[in-house]
Amino acid sequence: MTPLTSVSNTAPTPITVAYGDGIGPDIMTATMDVLAAAGARITPETIDIGERVYLRGVPTGIHEQAWDSLRRTRVFLKAPITTPQGSGYKSLNVSLRKALGLYANVRPSRAYAPFVPTRHPEMDLVIIRENEEDLYAGIEHRQTEEVFQCLKLITRPGCERIVRYAFAYARQHGRKRVTCFIKDNIMKLTDGLFHRVFHEIGEQYPDIARDSMIVDIGAARLADTPERFDVIVMPNLYGDILSDVAAQLAGSVGMAGSANIGSACAMFEAIHGSAPDLAGQDAANPSGLLHAAVQMLVHIGQPDVADRVQRAWLRTLEEGIHTPDIYREGVSWRRVGTQQFAREVIARLGKSPEVLQAPVLTGHGPLHLPAPARRPPSRKQLVGVDVFLQWQAGPPDMLGDALKHHGSGALPLNVITNRGVKVWPNGLPETFCVDHWRCRFKAPADVVGFDEVLALQRRLHGAGFDVVKTENLYNFDGEPGYASVHG
Ligand code: NAD
Repeated sequence: MTPLTSVSNTAPTPITVAYGDGIGPDIMTATMDVLAAAGARITPETIDIGERVYLRGVPTGIHEQAWDSLRRTRVFLKAPITTPQGSGYKSLNVSLRKALGLYANVRPSRAYAPFVPTRHPEMDLVIIRENEEDLYAGIEHRQTEEVFQCLKLITRPGCERIVRYAFAYARQHGRKRVTCFIKDNIMKLTDGLFHRVFHEIGEQYPDIARDSMIVDIGAARLADTPERFDVIVMPNLYGDILSDVAAQLAGSVGMAGSANIGSACAMFEAIHGSAPDLAGQDAANPSGLLHAAVQMLVHIGQPDVADRVQRAWLRTLEEGIHTPDIYREGVSWRRVGTQQFAREVIARLGKSPEVLQAPVLTGHGPLHLPAPARRPPSRKQLVGVDVFLQWQAGPPDMLGDALKHHGSGALPLNVITNRGVKVWPNGLPETFCVDHWRCRFKAPADVVGFDEVLALQRRLHGAGFDVVKTENLYNFDGEPGYASVHG
């Protein structure tokens, strides 16, 4: 493979840089030195984020002025930060992702065998994780003495954006297959939507093969034979967990970078944290952040510089110049600190690896994708209500008997479940019950007025029941928009 040599003379791109906490300043200094020596056409603006800002009393870990820089440059190269222990401190990463609309988290995981030991020398995959939705909306409630709830939100526009990003990324990067991990055998509406959108959008990319797996078997196959995967797209929680697993399978969490991409802004960082145990020792591996910087260079349209950095880094690795985390007797030749590693990479700029394949950096700037289409509204009909009660007075039949009288002809009691298991009518005495009951009242004629739902709640409240929440049951174009109760 020949190196990309054309260095264009475009104006430098402003980027925002944060040196972070712990090993952050060490690895960022090393990374910026390599970028400068490689001829990156960037003008960095430095902002202060993280521990010092938190401890000055800013609960988000970021000053207002820092947002101005981020909104101006729209490109953020970020070192890891330390979130102080204790409540009251908000996760800066979650705030950044949400505020800047960074919906796609892109994490390549590649093996560098035999130079970095791994059981999966052929592994070369990219996990594309949805970054804003799912259980990360932070909507949690304690509803009863015994029950706590976290809301899992999956939206059609959110699914469309991440799935389209995955297919477009695969096409732009010469990847052949996109696999979707979901759990729609259990979460038929939420993960079911993700799965459906995956196939809808996948049809628009006939040049890219696609398949889908239930996340548990997918994760097992990923752990066993990661080399069989190419691009994997998944909802937020599965992606959070499995992208760390993939990085570790490839050889080290210390070497992977990630890109957080939105339609207006993008943030690039190593996947590891601030490693306080190594702070100030010049012993951290800067490769994760350097890989993030390579992703950033491709994103801002400088694949030539990204290619120079990538090749020099691979050559350094091949020559056995290793930081302590990947140093192995018999494989490594010289053990170096963070800054010396950067100097070794700089000394090899212009050289190519002799054994390892340099990735083809075909991306030229950010992917410009159409915004998710707004769909015409469906015919939405109210057909019932799930009323959640805190109740502890006795067995399920006692509750069923009491509630039957409060239903009406238009909205009769249909079923009661406890933690999703049907307990009335005809429940099993063996079912373990907590103090949280979902009582479904459903219109036999399939349509009910909202006043009827309110009247039901008033009757229940008047009879002394503790109504902790309700969920309306709707049909959309005649299709139930709620999970049915089995058993
Ligand atoms: P960590 O990733 O910082 O460290 C885990 C282990 O990996 C440690 O033994 C560490 O020494 C090692 N390690 C990590 N990066 C390395 C590198 N570049 N070179 C060599 N070894 C490396 O995870 P942690 O200890 O759970 O978290 C420490 C702090 O980092 C916490 O405050 C956490 O909140 C924060 N954190 C920040 C981010 C971020 O800013 N994106 C991400 C994760 C954790």
